[in-house]
Amino acid sequence: MPAPTEHYQTDVLIIGAGAAGLLAARILAEAGRPVLLVEAQNRLGGRVHTVQPPGFGEVLEAGAEFMHEPVPLTRALLTEAGIAWQATAGRTYVVREGQVQPDADFFDLLPPLLAKLDKLQEDLPLADFLAREFTGEAHAPLRAFATQFAEGYDAADARRVSALALRAEWAAGGAEDSPRPAGGYGPLLHWLAGRAQAAGATLHLATPVQAIRWQPGAAEVIAENGASYHARQVLCTVPLGVWQRPAGQPGHLGFVPELPAHRAAAAQLGFGAVIKIQLDFAQAIWQARLPELEFLLSDAPVPTWWSQLPAARPLLTGWLAGPAAQRLHATPTEEVLALALASLARLLAVPLAALQAQLRASYVRNWAAEPYAYGAYSYPTVGAPAARAALATPVAGTLFFAGEGVYEGPAAGTVEAGLVSGQVAARAMLGQAAL
Ligand SMILES: Cc1cc2nc3c(=O)[nH]c(=O)nc-3n(C[C@H](O)[C@H](O)[C@H](O)COP(=O)(O)OP(=O)(O)OC[C@H]3O[C@@H](n4cnc5c(N)ncnc54)[C@H](O)[C@@H]3O)c2cc1C
Repeated sequence: MPAPTEHYQTDVLIIGAGAAGLLAARILAEAGRPVLLVEAQNRLGGRVHTVQPPGFGEVLEAGAEFMHEPVPLTRALLTEAGIAWQATAGRTYVVREGQVQPDADFFDLLPPLLAKLDKLQEDLPLADFLAREFTGEAHAPLRAFATQFAEGYDAADARRVSALALRAEWAAGGAEDSPRPAGGYGPLLHWLAGRAQAAGATLHLATPVQAIRWQPGAAEVIAENGASYHARQVLCTVPLGVWQRPAGQPGHLGFVPELPAHRAAAAQLGFGAVIKIQLDFAQAIWQARLPELEFLLSDAPVPTWWSQLPAARPLLTGWLAGPAAQRLHATPTEEVLALALASLARLLAVPLAALQAQLRASYVRNWAAEPYAYGAYSYPTVGAPAARAALATPVAGTLFFAGEGVYEGPAAGTVEAGLVSGQVAARAMLGQAAL
């Protein structure tokens, strides 16, 4: 006999226990609103995922890791939670065609790029801008630099990412000051969940939502397990990757009636892929060739690497982002690991066997294949500000939207973006309640 279907009644139902959903839950619960939060996975945090996989002596970040300053809300919450953060340290290298360039400044090519970007009146995709303004062999290094930076850092597709948005980001100097929360981002999100629960919020994990039936003033949220949640207001914080899932595909979230303007806005926005590879070694074997390595940019298949300096821990993180990561979305973990190790052996100019002999543990997280995310973070396409505004627009005082994908501002694609969007939505919901 089938189990009786569960029905729940609440005032506010929040979908997603990531940065946006948890901060919103805390704010709304502390304001006295009955809050129930449903999360698809059996863990909190979403794209914040601080884990300690087998073989690793300490935790590592499978998702968000750095505080890409300025992040005032993140800092304020870390301070309130009593969590410290630590500046990164060390030297930056570029390795191309086997040549090591220490203390490289990847922004050397930035002034000519910014000079042309400054004159840009009408937005266009980065690839089109580069093809128009920097033609010929002489500009090949600049085109490669700009494309690699947009793909590697913003996880963007150069054929879609907005040149004007990159101008704003690059003029601000990139992510030069990027500390890490001590012990990872995970404790901050657990602390937020604790605050929300202490204020009366209820959290249902392992509860994927399939559909939201709504009418002005009332919504029914239907979970995959058949449970249904009735609420006066719903805050949906699912990632852009979920918004972009086609109907009929696993992970698709349906609205009844549909929200065509929101769906079209989500389709217009960019959502980039990232594969993060963590390699724990017996010792810092990179030290001989790349002393005090903090950050390495290269032309290898897995091009970007960083250490844990100032912590002496012999862990290297490999990073593959944008279209190159998207192409590997279905590649088995062992193949991704082999590609990463081959890249690193080449960059360190050591035999692969020597590297493997030093490897104590490895961990690969392929975010394009991650259920309930289907990517890593958003990037600005041409027309993104209007699309983000459309996606963030509440419906009939009943449906509200948050998450880093709807955030507009200098911290796009970050934990800060998620937190700010959750705060903005919660305040809007409280304002609505007062009407
Ligand atoms: C590899 C990687 C590296 C990153 N590096 C950094 C960094 O260094 N610094 C930084 O600031 N940011 C970084 N980010 C971005 C940052 O992690 C995100 O911007 C932020 O965590 C997003 O928070 P959110 O609440 O908007 O979304 P999420 O954290 O994605 O939360 C949404 C939640 O909704 C849940 N959900 C989805 N579908 C459903 C459903 N149908 N039913 C119920 N629940 C559902 C998800 O499981 C998830 O828990 C990184 C992200 C990745 C993936």
